[in-house]
Amino acid sequence: GPSREEVLALRQRYVNPGVLTYYREPLMIVEGAMQYLYDETGKRYLDAFAGIVTVSVGHCHPHVAAAVKEQAGTLQHATTIYLHPTLPRFAEKLASKMPTGPNGTPLDRTYFTNSGSEANELAVLMAREATGNQHVIGLRNGYHGGTPNTMGLTAHGTWKFPSNAPGGIAHTHPGYCYRCPYDLAYPSCEMKCAKDVANVIAYETPGQVACFIGEPIQGVGGAVLPPKEFFGIVYDAVRAAGGLCVADEVQGGFGRTGEHYWSHQHFGVQPDLVVMAKGIGNGAPLAAVTTTEATAATMTKRIHFNTYGGNPVSMASGLATLEVIDAEGIQENARVVGGRLKEGLLELRDKHDLIGDVRGLGLMLGVELVTDRVAKTPAKQEAADLMELAKERGLILGKGGLHGNTMRIKPPMCISKDDADFLLATVDECLGIIEE
Ligand code: PMP
Repeated sequence: GPSREEVLALRQRYVNPGVLTYYREPLMIVEGAMQYLYDETGKRYLDAFAGIVTVSVGHCHPHVAAAVKEQAGTLQHATTIYLHPTLPRFAEKLASKMPTGPNGTPLDRTYFTNSGSEANELAVLMAREATGNQHVIGLRNGYHGGTPNTMGLTAHGTWKFPSNAPGGIAHTHPGYCYRCPYDLAYPSCEMKCAKDVANVIAYETPGQVACFIGEPIQGVGGAVLPPKEFFGIVYDAVRAAGGLCVADEVQGGFGRTGEHYWSHQHFGVQPDLVVMAKGIGNGAPLAAVTTTEATAATMTKRIHFNTYGGNPVSMASGLATLEVIDAEGIQENARVVGGRLKEGLLELRDKHDLIGDVRGLGLMLGVELVTDRVAKTPAKQEAADLMELAKERGLILGKGGLHGNTMRIKPPMCISKDDADFLLATVDECLGIIEE
């Protein structure tokens, strides 16, 4: 194949320079096999970022790869204006994995799109249509996509363009205890941050809202995991203002948090709409919004169309992925190996002053680095150095968070205990070098 230099030169010449790459010297990947990636020299990396939390059951998992190949060779494309068998089969399988909506109402009506951004746009559209209200409440520090409305919902300046400012969107606190905006501590805070959503509704909306949308565990925002009561308080306030509740499960769904198939179940809440992408298709461009029969019916008032939404190859990939999650005990593995990782990271926190906070559930973990534990000064440079040093040692980590100082650990859920130990030993060694 072409050399890394040739690929880099072609990309620099013909690709928009705004397309993001990681690392000081962008890494070239030519092959993937389960939890590992290989560069052009054959060097192996443990992929602790799973693409971007996309590859849920493993790179090129044989069952998923075979299903995609078979579908691509039989019927690669048909839009939803025709019937084809794979779409409803996958929709039925997905419905069998859905949680219940409010008061036990089934969530079993799905609309397929290609990306999380499109799915979130659609969820907001459905909520607005269903309620007749316009205003949407999001969480500070959240990420919901890069299209106009979702860029507005995304609540961090890094991801916004000043030329794009959609209206009718307000943000409330995310329950980020490590950086509590009131300098309080849980539980004596009595969930002041969650209760503040009533003020946001009162002061920043007409008092009636279309919906609330939130990631039960923030992904890009750095594994922010609020206390268990958080979403119950927020959902109640939003419903009292006539709004629906949307759970963005793009990163936290499909067993990743270990204890539950859906991350919102950790909080004991029942959303009206669930948005999915990334892990649902193991890397295929596939996303979905699933809701109740009544809310779904509001989409028949006008025509909404998505050319590639529900295409046979993505459907086949999604169906095979969900089958693997069931057949291979993937959720249980996320719980067990994720638990071991978190324990190990907490031990590293005792050893390394750079680690300010370790948080998350299952295989959705965050390690926030600080240069001063009392002031909680974000260790932005150190986080970037850790990424580089880990890469040299064959470990790919993710990075994000409010200040770009949170390491994001979300490997394909097939990761083994030995992989977890390698990850911990590598992070330990790299932090030691940075602290020298
Ligand atoms: N929601 C969440 C929680 C995400 O993490 C992302 C992507 N990082 C999106 C939505 C947007 O998905 P996409 O990039 O597929 O449009």
